[in-house]
Amino acid sequence: MGPEADALRRQLRQLIKAHVPEHFLGAFTDDPADLEVAQRFCRLLAERNLLCMAWPKEFGGGNASVWEQTVVREEMWAHHEPRGAQYMGVNWVGPIIMRHGTEEQQRKHLPPIANGEVIWCQGFSEPEAGSDLASLRTAARRDGDGWLVSGQKIWTSYATMAQWCFLLARTSKGEKKQQGLTIFLVPMDNPAIQVRPIRSMLGPHHLNEVFFDDLRVTDDDVLGTVDAGWSIVQDVMSFERVGIARYARCERLLAAAPGVLGDRWESLPAELRGRWTRMLTHCRRARLMAYRVVSLQSSGRIQPGDAAAYHITVTKLDQDSAEVLMEIAAEVSHDDPGAKWFLGEVEDHWRYSQASTVSSGSIEMQRILLSRAMLAGAK
Ligand SMILES: Cc1cc2nc3c(=O)[nH]c(=O)nc-3n(C[C@H](O)[C@H](O)[C@H](O)COP(=O)(O)OP(=O)(O)OC[C@H]3O[C@@H](n4cnc5c(N)ncnc54)[C@H](O)[C@@H]3O)c2cc1C
Repeated sequence: MGPEADALRRQLRQLIKAHVPEHFLGAFTDDPADLEVAQRFCRLLAERNLLCMAWPKEFGGGNASVWEQTVVREEMWAHHEPRGAQYMGVNWVGPIIMRHGTEEQQRKHLPPIANGEVIWCQGFSEPEAGSDLASLRTAARRDGDGWLVSGQKIWTSYATMAQWCFLLARTSKGEKKQQGLTIFLVPMDNPAIQVRPIRSMLGPHHLNEVFFDDLRVTDDDVLGTVDAGWSIVQDVMSFERVGIARYARCERLLAAAPGVLGDRWESLPAELRGRWTRMLTHCRRARLMAYRVVSLQSSGRIQPGDAAAYHITVTKLDQDSAEVLMEIAAEVSHDDPGAKWFLGEVEDHWRYSQASTVSSGSIEMQRILLSRAMLAGAK
């Protein structure tokens, strides 16, 4: 990416070193102390124009290139995302509001994201509507000049800490189930919203159920056009599926392994070291695919198959590298204080990698999307 990107990388690493506790793994928990670390770090990045680097200046960004923003993504994910849940606002909520929001919505929502002040959650999945999202049942019904929303969401990441929800609800019944869906931008502090945490191996309250009981919203809260929310959902997915630079963490941990093992590295089974080498090659492949998708996205030429291909590659890499790292970690002496960070990070990486082929759309659904795209291209 050139010397400027290298300088930016160095700057980000220095900031992480200086302002984030060493080997911080609390970015996605709702422990107030962890939340404060992540929020403080977001504000610090924002003050230096490093949080939403590639956003236009008018929306609080830094007018930087998508490649500089890619460096930020890589460094943040490589270091276990010290921005915490904020990454969603930067990666997709903000860009989607830029594309589809009214001027008033842009004025209201974009500066707080760019300043690192707010967390958003995504209210899409429901108990009977995950892969088949368009069959969701949460409904908004007309009530005077506004709407009343009732229903249930599930697997909502960060709902206990979020101030806003990007909510998908049914507003009418169309010929196809993808019709009649609408996006609402909803404040989470309304008493008509109840959040119930789900215990999971991702740590304290990453995942939640969210219940809406006659939540009152207005037309001003509608993003885009009533009943035409599905096209925005497609847009969200293409940003979301390429937003996380998972390969950067895999590569950092894999590259650290020989140093952590020291003399013991050479005595690892040749087969394990062979797989370690292959994983590093796969990291490079995923990185190149990411750059291709970033390039396509920035020029508006991205197709659903492109995001799906990248998502399959990078989530498989996440899991396969986690397995190799776990086997390597098993060879590390648990009494070695210099290896403690490695064991902690590998364990964290392994747990999160288990979910990566499900979140943002399961890998099976990505394969279906990719094959459809390839078959359509072959016609
Ligand atoms: C860590 C994590 C965070 C998440 N965060 C959020 C969030 O913030 N907001 C949100 O709205 N959702 C979130 N989700 C939910 C996620 O989007 C769904 O879990 C995902 O879309 C799959 O839906 P499901 O869980 O209902 O599984 P299902 O759709 O029931 O699928 C179950 C299995 O069947 C397979 N399957 C389903 N249909 C087909 C088919 N047609 N062909 C082949 N195989 C099929 C799937 O691939 C999967 O393996 C999160 C999930 C995880 C794991």
